Amino acid sequence: MPDYESLTIRFKALAHPVRLQMLDMLRRGETCVCHFEAVLGKRQAYVSQQLMALREAGLVTARRDGLRVYYRLTDDVARAVLDAALGPLPEDATFERHESCPCPVCTSTIAPDSISVRIA
Ligand SMILES: [Zn+2]
Repeated sequence: MPDYESLTIRFKALAHPVRLQMLDMLRRGETCVCHFEAVLGKRQAYVSQQLMALREAGLVTARRDGLRVYYRLTDDVARAVLDAALGPLPEDATFERHESCPCPVCTSTIAPDSISVRIA
């Protein structure tokens, strides 16, 4: 029998416009909290609250590096649902920089491709 309970937990986590946008970003690779703040234009407290909901639902995992916390999408079911709902990512999709984000990827001059490999 399918695990209806855990699927429901996933769908509840997905059923929020900001969390959907965050997950859409996470499909492109590991993303730090400051990057979500910059792209979404939301305060850290709000961003952290939404990330906590995603983490409690088991969709993402967090990694701390110094003062920064990075999140990545680790749930294959959620990824498949996002791909079905939003359309698959283009072949050449990469992490999207944001000019007001202070994260190492956004402030680096190296191509995002090679960075996401390095920080992965
Ligand atoms: Zn950034």
